[in-house]
Amino acid sequence: MPYKAELKKLQYDHLFGHVDINTSQIDVPDDMFNGWQKTLDLLAEIVDSPAVLIMKVTATDISVFTTSNTQGNPYNRHDSEVLGNGLYCETVIKNQSELHIPNALKDPEWDQNPDIKLGMIAYCGLPLTWPDKTPFGTICMLDNQEREYSQSYRQLLERFQNGINANLAHLYQQSELQYLNQILENNVQKRTTELAKLSEKLIKEIEERRVIEDSVDYYKSYDALTGLPNRLSFISSLTQQLNASIPANTTVIYFGLRNFKSINNSYGYVVGDKLLQLFTQRVQSFLSSDTLFARVAGAEFVIAQPKCDSTDEIQLINQIITSSNTPFTIAEFTITIPCCMGIAQAPSDSENAAELIQKAGAAMDISKVNGSPYTFFTKQTQLNIEQRYHLESNLVDALKNGELSLNYQPFFCLKNNKVIGAEALLRWNNPILGNVPPDQFINLAERNGQINEIGNFVLHTAIAQAAKWFVIQPQNFRIAINISPVQFRNSSFAEHIENLLSLYNLPASALEIEITEGILLQDEHVAQHTIKKLQQFGVRVSLDDFGTGYSSLSYLQKYSFNTLKIDRCFITNIEKNEQDRELSKAIIAIGKKLDMHVIAEGVETQAQDDFIKSEECDYGQGYLYGKPVTADLFEKSYFS
Ligand code: C2E
Ligand code: CA
Ligand code: CA
Repeated sequence: MPYKAELKKLQYDHLFGHVDINTSQIDVPDDMFNGWQKTLDLLAEIVDSPAVLIMKVTATDISVFTTSNTQGNPYNRHDSEVLGNGLYCETVIKNQSELHIPNALKDPEWDQNPDIKLGMIAYCGLPLTWPDKTPFGTICMLDNQEREYSQSYRQLLERFQNGINANLAHLYQQSELQYLNQILENNVQKRTTELAKLSEKLIKEIEERRVIEDSVDYYKSYDALTGLPNRLSFISSLTQQLNASIPANTTVIYFGLRNFKSINNSYGYVVGDKLLQLFTQRVQSFLSSDTLFARVAGAEFVIAQPKCDSTDEIQLINQIITSSNTPFTIAEFTITIPCCMGIAQAPSDSENAAELIQKAGAAMDISKVNGSPYTFFTKQTQLNIEQRYHLESNLVDALKNGELSLNYQPFFCLKNNKVIGAEALLRWNNPILGNVPPDQFINLAERNGQINEIGNFVLHTAIAQAAKWFVIQPQNFRIAINISPVQFRNSSFAEHIENLLSLYNLPASALEIEITEGILLQDEHVAQHTIKKLQQFGVRVSLDDFGTGYSSLSYLQKYSFNTLKIDRCFITNIEKNEQDRELSKAIIAIGKKLDMHVIAEGVETQAQDDFIKSEECDYGQGYLYGKPVTADLFEKSYFS
């Protein structure tokens, strides 16, 4: 509480009697005493009284405090009498009112009082009181002869009484102030001690915070799981290293564990984390002390090796491959996980740390797409990056500029050669870039988040088109729509489809949703829930590109799909490749066994058509039956 407020509170407490002043301990200062002496002398002279006194009472007795310097005054300062002996003054104090006895001898109530012994038979006294109502004593005039004090003398006595009471009030106030000051001082003292303690606590807290900040700084620079530096700290170390070593060669290898998400999904995050730690340890074990090593993303790492020649490079690459390919034993699981790498070199590819990482990362992306274990950054990689950037910047406005549209490719029932549906395929026609195939821009849209907007456009357009065609071709005709994992991951995807069906008034049976294994890999629980929901309200779900992922068969047991689409790569090779022929046969047989319809994709030749028919595949889709075309052309070709 601030000083002023505190004082106010104390004063307030005082007003209401909370401040405890002990009046018996208030001393009358000398100058006041002298004033009182003069007052008494004056009064005695005016009234012509042998004794005018100021008496002071205590808990046990009453004594002469000031006595007039008058002749024949029998009272001396400090003369005292114990209480209870019937002194005039005691009664005045008790009643807190004036007592006027003209002749005690004639008054049976007073004829025994102690003053008579001193010859004083007339008395007139008034109480003196502290402001808190505790008694100080009296002021009184006494006479040795009968005396009726006149009204004016009594008033005079009252004046003096008031004057002394005012003095007492002043003393009281002073002592009250002293008391308040004392309390304040104590409080200040207390506050000072408290402040000292607080400041001690603060210093401790600051120290603790500094420790935390230090550890935050650590976590800002290091990855908690593996203890490796993170991207930022790697860039700063590499920058220092490059500044020191140019033009000596430095090799940057960006590497990632493929499909690491599926490890997390299949075995759980604890196993996933352990695997990352073990992998880190393996890599660390063969790195030299001047090699920088960091974890830059989930399952992505980067190393920078200074003074690295091509032999060193090959050795490093092989060691990383071996680190990932050697089985990991975690709990009861034995796991192998392939990795892919991208390599960039300083100073030839760049002399800038961030750029080197970016280029090595881009080369790794190419390894990922090609399925090769490693890729060196080249001019072509650079071109690909630039092209991707170019595409991406144009794609941003594609939708609003009306550059996106849908084509429809028919699929046929192989038993009766009738068209039973169409797959909606996205087309992007840009005035500068021309026709950009979906394979090139869909993954870009997935990366920058545009896929939601684009996917919605596809859903609205295709469902609206299907509703139109349903009127013309109500029997067993359906539209198949490709859904990106990013869209499917949304937990309200099924509800969104349900709303669109009712918006366009399309029966659920006229819609098929095509998903790929990527969806199942990313979040099994959401996927399972969404698939079930879609099927519950009658939408078919088909597994696209079947056979290209490496755990396809296990998914067939976990999820119930309505349709299986055999990937084009098997069909293409049917005539030449015995193994693909056998695989296609097996897929068709499995599909049938699990009560699914099977579609063969990419049928281009009569021989392929003959083969799938002989294996009793249900449906066929491919250039042989019909290429993707606009809605108008589709309608003209198949519905007339
Ligand atoms: P997909 O879902 O496997 O679609 C079939 C692709 O194979 C289409 O390529 C189609 O034109 C092509 N195709 C069909 N029959 C034949 C054939 O006999 N021979 C050959 N060589 N190709 C054939 P497209 O239209 O270029 O689409 C490529 C991929 O892009 C699609 O593969 C699909 O994954 C994706 N895609 C297309 N439209 C969409 C879409 O609206 N949303 C999403 N998320 N993905 C889409
Ligand atoms: Ca498809
Ligand atoms: Ca496909």
